Amino acid sequence: MMISVQEAQGIILKGIKVLGPEVVKLENALGRALAEDVYSNSDIPSFDNSAMDGYAIRAEDVRGSSRQSPKALEVIGDIKAGDVPKKTVKGGQAMRIMTGAPVPRGADAVVMVEETEKPETRVQKPELVKIFKEVEKGENIRKAGEDIKRGECVFQKGARLTSAHIGLLASLGQAEVKVAKRPTVAVLATGDELIDVDEKARPGKIRSSNTYTLLGEAASCGAIPKNLGIAKDDPGELAKKIRKGLGCDILLTSGGVSVGDYDLVKDVLAGIGTDIKFWKIAMRPGKPLAFGTIKDTLVFGLPGNPVSSMVSFELFVRPAILKMLGQNDDKGEVDAVIGEDIEKKAGIRYFLRAITRWDNGNFVTNTTGPQGSGILKSMALANSLIVLPEEVEKAEKGDKVKVRFL
Ligand code: AMP
Ligand code: MG
Repeated sequence: MMISVQEAQGIILKGIKVLGPEVVKLENALGRALAEDVYSNSDIPSFDNSAMDGYAIRAEDVRGSSRQSPKALEVIGDIKAGDVPKKTVKGGQAMRIMTGAPVPRGADAVVMVEETEKPETRVQKPELVKIFKEVEKGENIRKAGEDIKRGECVFQKGARLTSAHIGLLASLGQAEVKVAKRPTVAVLATGDELIDVDEKARPGKIRSSNTYTLLGEAASCGAIPKNLGIAKDDPGELAKKIRKGLGCDILLTSGGVSVGDYDLVKDVLAGIGTDIKFWKIAMRPGKPLAFGTIKDTLVFGLPGNPVSSMVSFELFVRPAILKMLGQNDDKGEVDAVIGEDIEKKAGIRYFLRAITRWDNGNFVTNTTGPQGSGILKSMALANSLIVLPEEVEKAEKGDKVKVRFL
């Protein structure tokens, strides 16, 4: 039975749960999903500090200051970043202060150094500084807690950690962070014609590129890839090698799922106890795709054609991995103007490899050229997929279409 892309996605995602948590060092947390809400145990910044190099003063002392009639204040000391100021700024006084240094008691504003002038020589006592500008109370001061308040929920469970998130966690003193475990994804290529990348070319044989595209895709989604190598089109060997992937969260096979005489994967999967939920999807490329579960492992029998297996991964495996990681597949689709005519069969969803770019206020999209499902180059050139839905029968140059970026 052939089902739609959406139905297939629904069936796959339905049973998936987020994997359990693990604690990782902050420097290993990039791209991981938080397994718990994070609350701040301190204010950020933790003390009032200067946003400028300048002078910490009392705003009322420079009321009415201007270039023409500057006020002069007595400089009673210096505060560098990292210092703890001991003096109090009293009426008529100022302290020289550097960006990030704590604001001293008594001061309620900072005048930036560009708005001041100090006397020619520092030996003159008392040292005076001329202030050329009025300032508001609080001006150029970063208040304690203005970024984050103690006790505040900083990030929610499921947030995908970027370097900015990691920086904030570092500010909070979190050397470790609790994240969802990474799923393990085993990849088994199948086919009598396959040799591995380091084997000598032989007549009739091709190198298993799917092994490497799929391992790469799994890693790029944040999973831990595991290479199970190549299995011949032989039921015994297939069953043996497929079993090696059953400790993993996800097992991907490639090839052997269409209707050829040597397409044995579906039957072998069923034979070892896989509960197969579907095996044909109304899409191009990628029509054959056997999906099922065996114990706790999700099994995807991906098609053998290099483009089909990658597009199927993008649409079905990627969302599954992300869900295990506690994340959403939030890519979505954008509108674009197509630059060529496309003929299409109704009832099937098409995914054309395309180059989409922003041009004069719209996205404009063009296919990468020949779209045969064996042409891996079409995928390597593409930055996106043009998505033509089931009901559409053609697209004409200038039509608006949906595009999914890769
Ligand atoms: P199959 O579905 O097994 O008939 O495979 C369909 C097409 O994909 C055939 O032309 C295969 O040679 C090719 N193919 C299958 N597996 C791989 C692989 N691992 N790497 C590259 N091409 C493959
Ligand atoms: Mg085959």
